[in-house]
Amino acid sequence: MRKISIFGATGSIGQSTIDLIRRAPDAYDVVALTGGHNIARLSADAIALQADLAVTAHDDRLEDLRAALAGSGIEAAAGQAALIEAATRPADWIMSAIVGVAGLAPGLKALEQGATLALANKESLVCAGQLLLQTAARHRARLLPVDSEHSAVFQGLVGEDIAAVERIIITASGGAFRDWPLEDLKEASLAQASSHPNWDMGQRITIDSASMFNKALEVIETREYFGVEPEQIEVLVHPESLVHALVGFNDGALMAHLGAADMRHAIGYALHWPERRDLPVARLDLAAIGQLNFRAPDLARYPALAQARDVMQRRGLMGAAFNAAKERALDHFIADRIKFTDMAEITARVLEQIETQSGLIDSAMTLDNVTQIDHIARKLADVAAAQNTG
Ligand code: NAD
Ligand code: MG
Repeated sequence: MRKISIFGATGSIGQSTIDLIRRAPDAYDVVALTGGHNIARLSADAIALQADLAVTAHDDRLEDLRAALAGSGIEAAAGQAALIEAATRPADWIMSAIVGVAGLAPGLKALEQGATLALANKESLVCAGQLLLQTAARHRARLLPVDSEHSAVFQGLVGEDIAAVERIIITASGGAFRDWPLEDLKEASLAQASSHPNWDMGQRITIDSASMFNKALEVIETREYFGVEPEQIEVLVHPESLVHALVGFNDGALMAHLGAADMRHAIGYALHWPERRDLPVARLDLAAIGQLNFRAPDLARYPALAQARDVMQRRGLMGAAFNAAKERALDHFIADRIKFTDMAEITARVLEQIETQSGLIDSAMTLDNVTQIDHIARKLADVAAAQNTG
């Protein structure tokens, strides 16, 4: 039986992972499941999957978790240290599906024990790509992409030489405001930004899809994971979300990956890799679909895309600063303190300021330095947000 753990088990990706695991209960021995405030879901899944350990990220929820697991024999734990400890528990395959930079430290620990890390948490690669890849190499651990675009590219590269790759094209639905008049974006509400045309995902990534901060992170993720140059990465708006990515080779061939907009495909591919196994995802009927549409992204609508280019050029700890500023700006938007379009203004201001204010930016990529730059960028984002409100 394969030993597996799921970080962020109660979220959208976590639940899709559990759905796949539950279909073959005899194949998996579940070690640890982690979640946040949703103790009912965490405990119910831990019991159903007979996990050894359940961890909530919040110290003050430990008693609730203990009570929910009473009599089950499942260990309960809470807080940051417990999350890290859970990542050191021996496992063959670990899903990294915490949202935000919070997924980085457990992910590194998982790699240090040599586990295969299925990485949905793109923020880890954006903040500390080199650190993750070096850690994986040092411990002979495998890092597999779970983001749908990156899984698609990864599949497109099977049997290919990366040196023959000319370009990588990742698609974007365009999010909730793809067809809105530009001047209306300022007044976009939280509810409107939280509904995605094609994918059913967690709230934060859904809003990041409307602003294309998600695609900005994914461009950086592509650069870090596949080691290609920024100029080789293109973003293409594709409203149907059926072509997830395309790989362009030096002979002019363009290999596209198509599939239903269902994350169980990318999760299942990472779970069964290097094999392909039957997955419970819808099969596409292209004749019924009839047409696929593509267009270039409008950079005025999606300023985050240009910011990603700037971040890639400056490298070092800039990805961590960008991600942190984005996470804080998103917190402020969700709390209704700023407008939708303020988010990109805040990240732009933080990117401007970070170099002058911090001698850290060119420092070595260690977890400590990433954490420090993350704190600095969050503070700058808070100041910028206060200016936008005032
Ligand atoms: P979600 O909000 O639905 O779930 C997030 C999970 O992380 C929950 O279990 C939550 O309890 C936990 N969590 C949140 N903050 C935490 C913290 N500070 N410490 C520890 N745990 C914490 O998010 P999601 O949509 O499932 O996304 C998870 C990750 O996968 C993100 O990095 C996202 O960008 C990526 N991703 C998601 C999708 C998707 O379809 N949902 C697709 C591609 C990539
Ligand atoms: Mg994606």
